[in-house]
Amino acid sequence: MSFASLGLAPVWVRAVREQGYHAPTAIQAAAIPPILAGRDVLGLAQTGSGKTAAFGLPLLQRLRMPPGQGPRRLQALVLLPTRELVVQVGEVLREFARSLSGSPRLKISEAFGGVSINPQLMGLRGGTDVMVATPGRLLDLIEHKALDLRSVEMLVLDEADRLLDLGFAEELQRILALLPARRQSLFFSATFPKAVQGLAQGLLQEPVEVRI
Ligand code: AMP
Repeated sequence: MSFASLGLAPVWVRAVREQGYHAPTAIQAAAIPPILAGRDVLGLAQTGSGKTAAFGLPLLQRLRMPPGQGPRRLQALVLLPTRELVVQVGEVLREFARSLSGSPRLKISEAFGGVSINPQLMGLRGGTDVMVATPGRLLDLIEHKALDLRSVEMLVLDEADRLLDLGFAEELQRILALLPARRQSLFFSATFPKAVQGLAQGLLQEPVEVRI
């Protein structure tokens, strides 16, 4: 099994090679083709399974490129429960995106609570293509009119069980209400108790299920 055989474009095959990945992990092999095909995906997988690249690579490939002139339009939103995960996933996406040549470059932005909102507000001037965020701070940025979710085409909810454990259910519902109904949604969780099933049901349409 190779990354190219999953349908990834040469630029992303090169990007994974530069990361030292030789072959896809199980979750990557199972999730990348349906995500590239535009399907919703429900992925039940642990941290350490290679989940980030499983959604990150097809997400990057599906972005409209180049971002173009004028303000950037937010195309993809990745929601995570903690600052550490936001920083980690943002770094992985940016590292992959370094393989893209040409300008204007893709812009990937991170936002999380517990720090001043001002640098995050400044960073969003001129817009962003991809947003990686915790739910509470994302809502703060929307209230400050720094971000508009109406152009989002792809939503990723990662570590969904931890998002609920940390009490983000209400914030998630508020965010979902601001997203276009027509979008691709990817949902990852390590465990799948009733509350997580309910959340998944509310936001996925005919998902492809991937259990690792
Ligand atoms: P994740 O589950 O996304 O946090 O990834 C766990 C670790 O596995 C990270 O250090 C990745 O860099 C690494 N990794 C992800 N995919 C692959 C792969 N196909 N081959 C080798 N390492 C990988």
